[in-house]
Amino acid sequence: MKKISVLGSTGSIGVSTLDIAAAHPDQFQIVALTAGANLHLLAEQVRRFRPSVVAVLRKEDEVSLRDMLGAAAPEVLSGLEGLMACAVHDEAQMVVSAIVGAAGLVPTMAAIESGKDIALANKETLVTAGALVMEAVQRKGVKLYPVDSEHSAIFQSLEGHRKADVRRLILTASGGPFRDKALAELKQVSPADALAHPNWSMGKKISIDSATMMNKGLEVIEARWLFDLPADRIDVHIHPQSIVHSMVEYVDGSVIAQLGIPDMKTPIAYALSYPERLPLNLPALDLCALGSLSFSKPDNQRFACLELAYEALRAEGTAPAVLNAANEVAVEAFLNRELGFLAIPDILRRVLDAHRHGALTHIDEALRADRWGRQAARRLIDAAL
Ligand code: NAD
Ligand code: MG
Repeated sequence: MKKISVLGSTGSIGVSTLDIAAAHPDQFQIVALTAGANLHLLAEQVRRFRPSVVAVLRKEDEVSLRDMLGAAAPEVLSGLEGLMACAVHDEAQMVVSAIVGAAGLVPTMAAIESGKDIALANKETLVTAGALVMEAVQRKGVKLYPVDSEHSAIFQSLEGHRKADVRRLILTASGGPFRDKALAELKQVSPADALAHPNWSMGKKISIDSATMMNKGLEVIEARWLFDLPADRIDVHIHPQSIVHSMVEYVDGSVIAQLGIPDMKTPIAYALSYPERLPLNLPALDLCALGSLSFSKPDNQRFACLELAYEALRAEGTAPAVLNAANEVAVEAFLNRELGFLAIPDILRRVLDAHRHGALTHIDEALRADRWGRQAARRLIDAAL
């Protein structure tokens, strides 16, 4: 029985994680849950999974949740303190890091420092402070399993092979809802258009990131840290069908890929149960019905965010943290209709150019860079309003 703490349990990844746990009650026990919003769903999850502790973001929600649960209430906490308590909870052997944004960094780091294995969905943790996170993983001897489908695919394609034989990683990208739109058309797109992802059903932030292709940029940075390869050995192919989840090319020209239908339950389950595979009751991949799979190069003109991420990765130090923070603010502003779609890469370009990159030797530096990036982006957005 693996005891699990789920950070971000009401989100898209959190809900899928709990679905898997519910289908395999002999294998997983949920000991802690946290959520930032959606109290009703959280209350339902608490009744169903009976964790020892649950944490909400806001103090007022702590009281409401206790009221909702009545006698069934476990320990209920709030704020950063509550989140941290769930991240380091004594009973937990594994922490599923499924909060969205750089807010996931501090609790994920705390979980690593307290010796927990991590199932990592929160890519922003590695984007913001990848070097420090991986150093802590090594030092504590914990396991960090990727949940992101591309990284799970690479993780699987590396198994049984020698790292020294890897030539490059190829991340696949669906291209999002605007894959075939002309640059001029992109100017007009609305948040609703951008949220309508063709293949994956996900939280709002990552859906917008998929539309700008910043998601793939963040994933390139995530891959750099997870697999310890430089930016110039990580490529991106557009693959509209989202069937080949990513690939590893070896020095002899062999390319090993992982394929499957686009459903996050597969990579989540693999992270939870590695090295075993869980039966998941998903529809089988029917390649014959699909007929063909296609691949092409990403268009850097229409999707400037991808190149910005490569640039930040090459600059190293605090640059990726600043880019990520500015992106979170810009995405929020786009969702609030304060910003047009094409203004997102514009803002990021300007924030990245204005930043004086520093070294990243302590988590405080990552948090400072994160704050700086947020403020810089906010100022630019306010000035344009
Ligand atoms: P989501 O928005 O659906 O859920 C996020 C969860 O975190 C919710 O429970 C929310 O209440 C909580 N939360 C949000 N902000 C918080 C804060 N500041 N403090 C504490 N809790 C907070 O997001 P998601 O789509 O499930 O994505 C979660 C993470 O997984 C992201 O980093 C995303 O990039 C990554 N990811 C998601 C998918 C996917 O299919 N959804 C795929 C790959 C990677
Ligand atoms: Mg992904």
